[in-house]
Amino acid sequence: RVSRDVQPHDSVVHIGNVPVGGQHFVVMAGPCSVESESQLLSVAERVKTHGARVLRGGAFKPRTSPYDFQGMGVEGLKLLKQASELTGMPTVSEVMEISQVDTVCEYIDCLQIGARNMQNYGLLKAVGETGKPVLLKRGLSATIEECLLAAEYIVDAGNPNVILCERGIRTYETATRNTLDLNAVALMKQRSHLPVLVDPSHGTGVRELVTPLSRAAAAVGADGIIVESHLNPSEALSDGHQALTGDMFAQLMQELTPFVQAA
Ligand code: PEP
Ligand code: MN
Repeated sequence: RVSRDVQPHDSVVHIGNVPVGGQHFVVMAGPCSVESESQLLSVAERVKTHGARVLRGGAFKPRTSPYDFQGMGVEGLKLLKQASELTGMPTVSEVMEISQVDTVCEYIDCLQIGARNMQNYGLLKAVGETGKPVLLKRGLSATIEECLLAAEYIVDAGNPNVILCERGIRTYETATRNTLDLNAVALMKQRSHLPVLVDPSHGTGVRELVTPLSRAAAAVGADGIIVESHLNPSEALSDGHQALTGDMFAQLMQELTPFVQAA
């Protein structure tokens, strides 16, 4: 059960050797998509140097248009494994289909369920049967209750290692890609013992807004953030407009020092 009523203390979920939840404030970072060995290794080294603990990167990409880059697939997973071995950072990557679960488990430390699949109950049950940590992103138009019940599917299938993630919801506002719902972070922390992360990259869709909203995430009590970074965002194959440059990532980590150290 994900409710605090049944477990008053915070759950701590371990991604590799990195604890998420409880007293920790964790920063996960990396590119939206794995694009090549040099792209991934360069950004991985950079974010690691500045204090990221978990490497993100999409290999199976849920793109709005079928004509956009769909990800490197298994080759991307292999590059993530290689980057993990070189940097020591465990990895998180999205699994889109039940048929991909075993392969993603082979190479990756934490399975991401993307916003578009938050209510794909067959997939939730499948990742629930793995026992691997799962980063569950809130659906684009999902209520907080629906998000918590989606987490319940994974836990009920036998996997307690769920991390919730607020990544912005669709509202009438069009000036930003999504509207980051910080209410949800505070409420989910009260209602559930599971760790709650914030994704300010998809939450805003604007790289200049990622650092201020990361500070807000820390202040509201999130257990960490997951952010997109690319050393050459204008060349990125997906989500370049929201990717932090290496320098911007360094600045972000500088500003988060009080939270990261207090944790
Ligand atoms: C992503 O993390 O790159 C992603 C596609 O996220 P979301 O499912 O939140 O849109
Ligand atoms: Mn993305």
